[in-house]
This record gives sequence, C-alpha cells and structure tokens, in this order.
Amino acid sequence: MAKVSTSQLHEKDRANIWHAMRADSNAKSVIAKKAEGAWITDSDGNKYLDGMAGLWCVNAGYGRKELADVAYEQLMEMPYFPLTQSHEPAIELAEKLNEWLGDDYVYFFSNSGSEANETAFKIARQYHHQTGNPRKYKFIARYRAYHGNTMATMAAGGQNERAYKYEPFPAGFLHVTPPDSYRVPEGETVESWSIKCANEIEQMIKWEVKDTVAAVIMEPMITGGGILIPHDSYMRRVREICDEYNVLLISDEVINGFGRTGKRFGFQHSGVKPDIISMAKGITSAYLPLSATAVRKEIFEAFQGSDDYNHLRHVNTFGGNPAACKLAIKNLEIMEEEKLVERSAELGERLLEEMAELKELPYVGDVRGRGLLFGIEMVKDKDTKEPLEGEVLGKIVAGCKQDGLIIAKTSDTAAGNNNILTLSPPLSITEDDFQFIVKTVKKHVKEQVSNA
Ligand code: PMP
Repeated sequence: MAKVSTSQLHEKDRANIWHAMRADSNAKSVIAKKAEGAWITDSDGNKYLDGMAGLWCVNAGYGRKELADVAYEQLMEMPYFPLTQSHEPAIELAEKLNEWLGDDYVYFFSNSGSEANETAFKIARQYHHQTGNPRKYKFIARYRAYHGNTMATMAAGGQNERAYKYEPFPAGFLHVTPPDSYRVPEGETVESWSIKCANEIEQMIKWEVKDTVAAVIMEPMITGGGILIPHDSYMRRVREICDEYNVLLISDEVINGFGRTGKRFGFQHSGVKPDIISMAKGITSAYLPLSATAVRKEIFEAFQGSDDYNHLRHVNTFGGNPAACKLAIKNLEIMEEEKLVERSAELGERLLEEMAELKELPYVGDVRGRGLLFGIEMVKDKDTKEPLEGEVLGKIVAGCKQDGLIIAKTSDTAAGNNNILTLSPPLSITEDDFQFIVKTVKKHVKEQVSNA
C-alpha cells in the first residue's frame, strides 16, 4: 500500500471513526504509530510522554517484546478455546492472580472492565437468589463513580450528566455520598468524614425494604470521578456494614488494581477482604483485552451441586483468551521483577512532595494522589471550593501536549465539570520521565493561573 500522509490519515480518521468522549469531530487526534516505555510517537514523528498510560492501563509501559512473544507463541500453539471448557493459560493465570491477592478466589474471565462488573452484578444477584434471599437485588454505589459503559454499569455509575440521555437503566441501583477528603465539612476530620460517608450506606440499607440490598460496589480510590482518596478506615467500615446486613462487597479494581495506587490492589490499603473483585486494564498492561471477576470461594460454592439451575448462566465467547492469559502472567512477572508496585508507591510520594508547592497558587485547591494516581483540583475560590470553570484547565492540558506530555482532566461533580487535572503514567517511567512530568505540569499550571 502506498504511504498515506498524516493529513490524509486525519481526513480518513475524521470521516470514519467515532471517537470516545469527543464532542468536536474536527478535533485532531494524536495518530499514534509507535510506542516505547512511556513514550508515544505520532505519524509525524512527534513524541509524547503518555502521562495517562493510555486510559490508566499500560502499567508496565509500552514496547515490551517479552509480552508480544508470549502472546505470539500461544497464538501459534492454540489461539482460542472457550472457557465453557478450559485451557492451561487460564488455569495458570488464576493461580498467579491468587498469588497476587494472597488469597483463594475463583475467576470468571471476560474482556473489559464493564463486563467484569456486569458479571459481578449477576453473580451477586444469583448468589442471594439461591441462598434463600431472592429479594436481594439492589446495589449501592457512590455518586461520582464510574463502573463502565454498559446499561447496568452506567446505572451503577454516579456521574449523572454523562448518563441521563441513555436512561432508563436497569432498576435497583442506588447512590450515596462519595468520601471526598478535600470537601470535609467543618468540624470533621478526613477520618470522621470517611466514616460518616460509610455510615450513609448503612442508613440506606435500613431505609430500603429489609433484605433487598445485594451488594455495594466501590473503587477503593475513585479515579475518573476526580481522584478521591478516603481514609483507610472507610472501606473497613463498609466491610463491617456489609457483614452485618449480608451484603456483598464488590471492589472495582479496574484502575486501582495492578499497582496503580502503590499496592497490588487498592483494597489492600484498608486490609479488607472483598467478596468480589473486578479487574481489567493493568492485568495485561492493555496489550490485549482481558478482564476478570474474582469471587470468594464460599460464594462460588453456592453455584455448585447437582441442580443444573444453580449454575451461573453467563457465557463470554472471547473471555479468557489463551494468548491474553499468557500475556497477563508475563506482565505480572515483569511487575514483580522490576518492582513496579513498589516503584509506584515511591514515585507517588515524591510526586506529592514535588507538586505540593502548587497549593500556594491561586485556583489550586488541592493536590492529592496515591501511588501513580494523581490529581490537582482547581477551584474558583479556595474558601467555597467551588469548581473552576472555563478555559484554564483546557489550556493547561493543551500546553502540556504542546510540550510533549499527555495529561487529562477528570470530573469533580455530577454536572461533569472537569476541574481536576489527572496523571496516571506507566509505573515503569524512568527518573527522566518523572522529572519531565513534574517540570511540564508545574510550568503550565503556573503559567495559566497567572494569566487567569
Ligand atoms: N471500572 C472503572 C473504575 C473504570 O475506570 C472503567 C473504565 N475506565 C471501567 C470499570 C470499565 O472498563 P472498560 O472500559 O474496560 O469496559
């Protein structure tokens, strides 16, 4: 095929591709061609440090030949077999994941985070159904949460502005206040406020008809909803409440998992044991699609037995593709060998130290993060903490891109006001990459707030 120029690519792109999350179809994409480490090269040869690791997912970084090799070998050996039966790569991966969890879970494999959460919802409902609680069908989630793009996962999400045009959703999804450690009411500490937010779940369970709540779903740290890091006692309190009312706890580790927050999984900061854990993204560092719903053994047992109607009536054609499983195992091995989880924790601490000075600037309300999950919340007024609107954040993001750094904006409110600058780079970034991120973000934040 003759070489296609970049302007032709842009033209074809605009004509034929419906981009995610893009209002202006004339806006120019980065047309990525090559990627190595944390860096993307576009079709014109421009280089960008990918400060978002794609969509918070390329945890081990780009360009890992070992990952491509194991996938290739498996594709040659056996490219596909459904998990209605079984294959070795899936069996091996389940064992490896249990090593990472330090516990024994049973895995249902799918391809995306949304599917992992959908699977979790179906398992939770069916579990209660066949353990004597058929009325337990409701889920409690938090406002500002994101759990996926399908109808039930959108119902679980708490970002109403992005969701309302797709309503009506499946019934039974309820929402409580998220634990926002930046907007702690007067007289409360981060810890006491986190506990109050957790207690709202108990209150809701009591207000609903008795024995109708099936599960609570949460990301330990809310990511897309604005980098919210509750006190570690929050999830412990939620666990207690779930135990008291026979409600399952689903930990959405789609972003939190695989080192993003400086531990292998986000829930490990609180030391709780979730009943169900959804995983995706970093499981393969996004080299191939794969997701998993990890389920506590005791729950799995309720689906066993001679009664054919007790089994999980849920099939996923592509879920647990053998090459994706092999690649995931290698990805986890690389993370272990290179201590990427520890690195995420260490670099996260340093990032907070380096960026702390920004808090002195006008409009910078909060600087927060855990591991390599990081946010800068911009506000109109530091006393009222009203989210900053207008061009400032867009200009910071554009300025960083101009200098070769991709960062993102996430949302503070249900109204979808994108006032939080967000970083979630590969955990494998080098010291030079780290310095480049710090320097570039500081430069553009300082520049824009002084012009605002
Ligand atoms: N849960 C969380 C917390 C997510 O951030 C996402 C995606 N960003 C999903 C679930 C859905 O994952 P996917 O896009 O792979 O369906």
